[in-house]
Amino acid sequence: MTSPVRVDFKKIYYQRRIAENETWKQNAQAILERFPNAEVIEVDQHWRIPELAEADPSQWIRTKNDVLVLGVKTTLSHQKNGRSADYIAASVSNGCLSSCQYCYVARRKGGSNPLSLYVNIEQIADAIEKHSVRLGAKLVPNQTDPSLWTYDIGCNADLSLDAMVCDHPQYLIQRFSEMKYAKATFATKTVNEDAWLRVDPKGHTRIRYSIMPASIARYVDIRTSPIEDRMRSVNRLIDAGYEVHLNFSPIIMYGGDQWRKDWLETFDQLNDILSPKAKEQLACEAFFLSHSEAVHELNMQWNPKGEEFLWAPEIQAPKTNKEDVLVYNWSLRRDALGWFENAVGKKLPYCPVRYSF
Ligand code: SF4
Repeated sequence: MTSPVRVDFKKIYYQRRIAENETWKQNAQAILERFPNAEVIEVDQHWRIPELAEADPSQWIRTKNDVLVLGVKTTLSHQKNGRSADYIAASVSNGCLSSCQYCYVARRKGGSNPLSLYVNIEQIADAIEKHSVRLGAKLVPNQTDPSLWTYDIGCNADLSLDAMVCDHPQYLIQRFSEMKYAKATFATKTVNEDAWLRVDPKGHTRIRYSIMPASIARYVDIRTSPIEDRMRSVNRLIDAGYEVHLNFSPIIMYGGDQWRKDWLETFDQLNDILSPKAKEQLACEAFFLSHSEAVHELNMQWNPKGEEFLWAPEIQAPKTNKEDVLVYNWSLRRDALGWFENAVGKKLPYCPVRYSF
């Protein structure tokens, strides 16, 4: 499978604090050894590094190719969620080698959004384990899982790509496989089976492949695996012991009713590709695009073509509780969501919608 990204960093920003702990140092060293030619630049913090925040947005992809940040995650709390998971776990990384044009992670990062990896991975895993033990057995099933507490471990990144740079994602899956009450889950747009087939998740990891019509993905899902490859990978990951769900997102409205036609074709394609075993365990989540003026302006500097699909001020309005986030007008979205759920029910009757918005 061809990688959608080039992994060959030229500069690695290294948070000084890493040197305070022998394990963090070793974890960072293992990563540095993979990129022996990279220049290492020591910094006080991994967040808001001035030359990254103020980088030239027209060099957006180049910065992703050239720069990696290594840091220590200090806030080890897990936020209650109830949508894709019961909890959003403390992040193990932030930023991403992909460059989806609607990515919310980029919203407050200024002129670039390179990958930052946190090297205190054992501490993060310990914090999740402790949290789940405190919760004890899950007695009341909910839509995220009937019997295990679910933790989204990839909310601010794509772990399939992180796994091309370090072994942290595999380590986490291994740790979850030993946790009595917890299950890991993460969304991904990249096929990296080599990484996942090296670990036995023992029923404690759910991968969520993000799917959208291939005809629109080529303009907005930049540096990700082709949609058909993601669909085919579902079958193989299930055979390897993973649970695999689908993340239908973001749903983008374009071309009058064209977006609806494209989704119906996508559902047909899924029907053809997914194995009976995959269909048996399938569920999905679905949600509409959210965007922001700041990201729109950045995007116009490196991929204006994608904005033709994402930027639609005539049907977008600020979100009620977050003024800087733009969503489709409520009545339009409500009707479109009704249509979407109905289409999933008809075309993929074996695939319940876990949640949607
Ligand atoms: S894969 Fe996820 S984190 Fe990465 S750029 Fe796309 S939306 Fe953002």
